This record gives sequence, C-alpha cells and structure tokens, in this order.
Amino acid sequence: MQVVYIEEGADLDAFSAAYGITLLYPEAKILLPHALSPTVRLTISRFENLLKSKLLRKKELKIIDRLFLVDTSNLKKAKKTIEKFITENTEIDIYDHHPAKIKKEHNLALHIEKTGSATTIVVKEIINKGVNISPEDATLLLLGIYEDTGSFTYNLTTAEDLRTAAFLIEKGGDLETVRTILERRFDEKQINIVQQLIENIQYFPIKDKQIIISTAYSKEYVPDISSHFHLIKPFQEVDAFFAIINASGKISIIGRSKTKEINVGKILSYLGGGGHYAAGSATVKGLTTQEIKNYLENILIGEFYKDQKISSIMHRNIIKVQKDKPIKDLKDIIQKVPILIVINESGKFEGIVLPRVLKESIRHGIENVSVENFIIDTVVTLDENMPVAEAEKYLINSSQEYFPVLKKGYPVGIVSRNYLLKVLHGQVFDFEKDIFISRERIKPRYLNYREKLESYLPEDIIEELKKIGKISKQLGFRAYLVGGVVRDLIMNRENLDIDIIVEGDAVQLAKIYAEKYNYKFHSFEEFMTAQVILLSGLRLDFATARKEIYAYPGAYPKVKKASIKEDLYRRDFTINTLTIEITEGNFGTLIDFFNGLRDIKDKVIRILHQLSFIEDPIRILRAVRFAGRFGFKLGKTTEKLLKLAVDENLLLVAPKKRVNTELNYSFNEERVTEIIYLMNKYKIIHQLIPEFVFDEKREEIINRLRDMIITFDIFFNYKVNRTANYLLALMYHLPLEISYQILDKYRFSYEKQFFKIYFSAKDRFKMIPEKNSELYMKIKDLNKDLLVFLCSSLPVEVSERIIYLLKKEEEKKLLISGEDLKELGLKPSSLFKEIIEDIFLKYLDNEIKNKREALEYLKNKYKLK
Ligand code: ATP
Ligand code: MG
Repeated sequence: MQVVYIEEGADLDAFSAAYGITLLYPEAKILLPHALSPTVRLTISRFENLLKSKLLRKKELKIIDRLFLVDTSNLKKAKKTIEKFITENTEIDIYDHHPAKIKKEHNLALHIEKTGSATTIVVKEIINKGVNISPEDATLLLLGIYEDTGSFTYNLTTAEDLRTAAFLIEKGGDLETVRTILERRFDEKQINIVQQLIENIQYFPIKDKQIIISTAYSKEYVPDISSHFHLIKPFQEVDAFFAIINASGKISIIGRSKTKEINVGKILSYLGGGGHYAAGSATVKGLTTQEIKNYLENILIGEFYKDQKISSIMHRNIIKVQKDKPIKDLKDIIQKVPILIVINESGKFEGIVLPRVLKESIRHGIENVSVENFIIDTVVTLDENMPVAEAEKYLINSSQEYFPVLKKGYPVGIVSRNYLLKVLHGQVFDFEKDIFISRERIKPRYLNYREKLESYLPEDIIEELKKIGKISKQLGFRAYLVGGVVRDLIMNRENLDIDIIVEGDAVQLAKIYAEKYNYKFHSFEEFMTAQVILLSGLRLDFATARKEIYAYPGAYPKVKKASIKEDLYRRDFTINTLTIEITEGNFGTLIDFFNGLRDIKDKVIRILHQLSFIEDPIRILRAVRFAGRFGFKLGKTTEKLLKLAVDENLLLVAPKKRVNTELNYSFNEERVTEIIYLMNKYKIIHQLIPEFVFDEKREEIINRLRDMIITFDIFFNYKVNRTANYLLALMYHLPLEISYQILDKYRFSYEKQFFKIYFSAKDRFKMIPEKNSELYMKIKDLNKDLLVFLCSSLPVEVSERIIYLLKKEEEKKLLISGEDLKELGLKPSSLFKEIIEDIFLKYLDNEIKNKREALEYLKNKYKLK
C-alpha cells in the first residue's frame, strides 16, 4: 500500500499537502495521527465526502510499498511509529519546506524546497504533471498555503506560494471557505492566551535589535496558538519575539524572527527544540516560566556578546594619576571627570579616587597631601578579556558605579554600570516601572543589628548562635538567621523559630556543632538540611543555601548550592527575605537584599517576581494570612497578580495537603477573622467552597466564634479546635453532602467527623426548654468543640444560658460527693452517680440551693437519719 505520513498534531499545511499527494498518487492514503490541530479537524468534517476514501487508521496498515513523508523530514520518528510495515523495499518520498540534512539513501527521494508552505511543493508537482483537480480539491489545497504563510504575510512566503495559490484560485478554489475555516479556529481559550501575551509583553533590547519576550498561562494545552500571533501588533513590530506559554507546567516556547542575526531555531535548540532562523519552537517541562525567561535572556545575551570582550565596549579615555601626586596639582582635572585611576611608579593599578572627595579636601585647605591618602583600593575591576555577558554578575553583586578595566594589572579603560547595562539591555533600567526585573538588582543594605538581636533573643540562644557563627567561620562558611524570626525581630513580635541558612555545607556545620556540645542531631543529606536539638528542647533548623537547577530542560530539579541571595530570592514575600548574618566577625549584620525593610515599614506584602503565585499557588493563601496577621496590605502589583491567579483557578491545582496545612495555620491565627475577610474579598473562599456566600449571618457567627474561643479558653481552660469550628462556621448552612465533598477533597478527616456530630445533634436545639435542668440534659454529653460552635450560632440568650450551665457544672463536685453519701450511710454503688446527677439537676432549677439542702433532701428521700 501507499501511505502518506504526517506528524502528530499536524497542522493544515501538512494535511493539505498530504491531500495533494493523494491527488498525485490516487492509491495513496493519509495515515491519520492521533492528534490533529483543530483546523484540520474542522477541515475533515467540512470535506468529509472528499476525504472518506482517502484516510487510513493505524490499525488498517499493511506492508507499505511507498511512503510519503509530508511537512516533516523526521524519517526516524516516522519509522518508529510504523516500523512494522516498512521493508527495505519501501520507497520513500519526503516533501518538506523546512531545511533539513538528510542522509541520502537508496529508495529515498527528496522534494525539499524553501517555500512558505509544504502544500506549495505538492501543488507545483500537480501543475507540472497536469493532474486534473476539482474546485473542492483546490479549496482544500489553498487552506494549507493560506495557513502556513499567514495569508501570504509571513516573511518566508515566496513567489511560488502566490503562484500556486493563483493556480488554485483559477481552478475554482473558494476563498469564502478558506476564510471561514481559518476564522472559526479562534476560540475563547486562544483569545485568552493572546490577551495575556499582549499584556505580558516585555521588551528585551540587545544592541540595535528589539526583542519581545512574553508569557501566558493556561490550564490546558491550547493548540494552534501561533497562527494568531499576527493579531499581536507589537510582535510584528520587533525584530524577534518569543512567546512562552505555560499549560499547567508543560511549557511551549514559540519564537519568530525577521533577521538572520537572531536565529530563533538555534536559540530554542538550547532548550531542546528547534526550527530555522525565522521560526522555531520548543517544549519544556519541569522549568518555571520565569526560569525559561531568564534562560532565554541569557542565551540571547550570550549569542550576541559571546565573542565580545569588555575591551571592545570600554571607555579608553581614562585619567591616571600617580599615587604620590599632591592633590593641589589635580585641581583642573577633577572638575572634568567622575573618577580618577590611581597607579604606582610602574604604572600598575592601585585603586581609584573620587574627585568629589578631593574637592572637599581642597575646600578645607588640605591640598599638600598626596592622592594616596584618598585611595579606594577595594573596587571590583574587570579584565579586558572578560566576556561582556559575564560582567553582568558583577553588576548585580556590587553597587559600584564605575568598573576600572585592567590588562595584566595595568589600567586600560573604564566602564560605567549604566553603560554596561545599556550594552546588555539597550537601556537603563527603569526601576519604578519594572520593579520585578529590578528587584534582583536592588543594592543590598547592610545594617548593624547586633544589639537589637542580642536584646531580642534569650541570652542562651544568642550564645548558641555565636558558637555556630564561630564554627562557621572556622570552616570557611557563612551562616545566616533567616525567615520569620528576622521579620518578627524587626516588628518586635515574639518568635523562636530558629532557621539558619549556610553558605557552604549546613549538614557539616550542624554536625560539628552538635558533636562539640553533645546535642541531638539529625540530617537529611539529600535535602542538604539538618536539625540540632538543644538541651532545652529548642530545635535549630539548618539548611544549605540553595537554588533549584535542571540538568537539562525537562529534567527533575536538582538542589544546588547557591548564595544566600539566591536562596532568599526563592522565597514568598519581601518581608520574609530579611537575613541576619551570624558568622563570627559579621555577627549581627542585617542584610536587606529585596527592600524587605521598606515593605515592613510601609506595611505591604509583596511578592518577589511576577510568576510567584503561578509557581506556587499556596502563596495566595500565605499572602492573605500574613496580610491579615499583621494588618498589612497587598502591594499593587501583587494584588493584581493574586487576583489573576485566583481567576485562573490556580488554587485548585495546588497540592490538597498543602492547602489543608495552610488553612489550618490561618484558622489558628489570632486575627483569623481579618484573614477570612481577605479570603472573601479576593474570592479565595469561593474557590475552595464553590457554594459559599458571605452574608451578615456568616459574619456574625465568625465574630462570635472568635470571642467564644477565648471564653472557653479563659473559663474552662479549653483549647478549642479552631479549624473544625471555623470550617463549620463557613459551611454549616450548606447541605451536608457538599460539605463532605469539600472536607474529603482537602483531607479534613477529624473535621468531617465533627460535621457529622453537629448535624446529628443540631435538631435538639430547635426547641429550647425553659427549665435549666432540661437544657442541661441536652448539652451534657456533647463535646466541648461542639458546644463552642453552638454557643456561637444559637441565639445569644441561649448561648449565655449554656455558658452559665457549664460554669455551674464545675460546682457539681462541691455540691455533693461520694464521700458525703458514704457518710450518710449509703453503700457505694452505681447509684451514687445517679444521685449526684439528680441533686445537680435540682440545683440547676434552684430547688436545691446548697449542700445543706442537698443532704436534707437525701435524708428525706432515702429515709435516713
Ligand atoms: P510564621 O511566623 O508563620 O512561622 P514564617 O515566615 O516563619 O512565618 P514558615 O511557614 O515558617 O513562615 O516558612 C519559613 C520561611 O520559608 C518563610 O519566611 C518563607 O520565606 C519561606 N516559605 C515558606 N513557604 C513558602 C512558599 N510557599 N514559597 C516561598 N517561600 C516560602
Ligand atoms: Mg516559621
């Protein structure tokens, strides 16, 4: 048999071309892949009659005499799918318009041309052979050419495409049909992605080229998206663009370029994809969108500047001065330059001097001293042979404005920070506008918090931290206090969660420390973490500073050692990124890399980068929890992105167990009602409980519940199960079935039991008896958690009576005891309990007021003396 092979997910061009083959070779049938683009599906249903006899399913395959590969030259892949049916006699024809290197084999005929569509190549053959085609055939063929050339607007469109199209139109091809099919493919999901791509556009200028990198997120894979890129005007205006589309972790990257200088196929091949200079794509799993973005940016920079050295971009006109020169000789020069390079007798670099400082000195009449006195010799210098891309890391890690450039120790030039940034990114960063890109570039602030730390933490813990700092120094590591404790120190809130991050090896440090002082020690080597338990029982957590890296695109992340800054950059909010170094020598230095201090002062919760909520939707819950706890607001962009993440239902894809844990934390926060308000404001509750309505009733109960929890703590010394109670407060008005579903989904098993008990007990309280004893009978066997809820939801008078009865219950023993009964001459028996209960009920109804009356009553009743 003769078979036309097209790839999985084939587009219209592949399909039209395949159809063309069946016109050339009437015996040939198209082997349908499992996945087809929606336009192909639409076309198949539209041309059902024409295609009925031409399609072949895999199970119908027999030995293939002749195989046509269309719109792909990946013979290996094709053979893999159908290898059982290929013999060494199978003749193979490849029709493709992508450049390809294929080994010549016997039985292999290549029909490869650089046209805008594969269909064009096939139609040319139809013309040459004079094959007769119908108007319907012509329409079907036109579809492929129109689609793959973007209706003749893509750069790779050739005159041949237009000529063959002209031929097809002469043959009666129907443009109306072409248009409706090409338009029909535009659905909701595609629109949504196109909109996101428009909104998320970021310009990435390199040299004289403008490049766009944009991102979109969707829950599922949306096929065919690239055919809508022509709708995105900025995409058309730049030299190249990359669209990164994240479908629940499976990320497609599509690139287009107008210039050979930016070869998108090659760039994407670094991510495991491919293509040609003008168009390419890659699919990646296991990386975040942000990582892919960084990756692309680095590849782009690398591609452009790979060969460029610092020497080719530096400023060569530098002013050098001998270090023994008196500064009065420099009066003229210092007016003109921002920086002076200081050299020694042999001309080697010694350091820099800031003219500003010299001016100041001269102004005070000190001018006979030499330059040497003002020298700054701790500056970062760059080697003239350093690749430009590599210099970027010095920019990030140092706050220097100017970088002297040296050649074998001799100064040969200078580059300014701004200029380097310009070269690397084409423009000076606009810190206000692009806060997320720039957050990585904020100059860290170093502040002395030693005293503050020593007065905040208990003395014994400070001692331990110093011991750790000392060992750390000996090992050549650096150790830092991080997380909640640092934040809470600044906010003057108590916290004894000691989390220590180590630049170096946390396990080694913790082990040596624990052994030296005989403390308990556990380690988790694969996570590079360890715990040490002090004699007091306090636990110290150690972790090695890390980032997650990927051996190759799609690989599982490996934890890799990193700097403290990189470690902190993975965290959730700026207020949680503050750190205090405890290494000996630097003990007590607070480092603020990401403006956490400012955000605490301004009372805002801010994420560190745009994809934070997408990377980890649990942060949605954490954001409102911290905002509620501290009475902070969400930053403007953070709020916008949080809403977007909620709209995108990201919480629903978060691991259920983690949602459970976070909710538990939230319900146990002191300011739980504020958190619930925020969860309502941002429609987070609605996401978790689809039927939820926040009305006045709900609000009232939640407020009463908060107070009742305190009441039970104070009066009955009872620690209420808050999660169970708040969940019930949020859901008790819903049908039990629905609540069960939600509780099951988020693994709330104790809480489910609690709901069950509530629902079986609640009817008792439809009628509230007048007599205290009767009301007491209704509540006496109920558990305290349930009583808390009842006291929060029943009418206030009833709730007050219940509290009253519970308080009275504590007096039960004082009223009359087993001992008293024995003294009266009664034999201990199971009756005792009943008697005591009987007296208590009478006491509640005021029929018996005290012990004397109780004894009186018993004597009468049992005829005792
Ligand atoms: P708390 O006072 O509630 O303990 P915390 O800030 O210490 O507050 P933890 O849940 O103990 O919070 O987490 C410790 C640190 O780990 C946090 O400060 C935060 O920086 C980081 N962290 C926790 N969860 C996440 C997350 N989902 N994404 C990023 N970073 C996180
Ligand atoms: Mg903590």
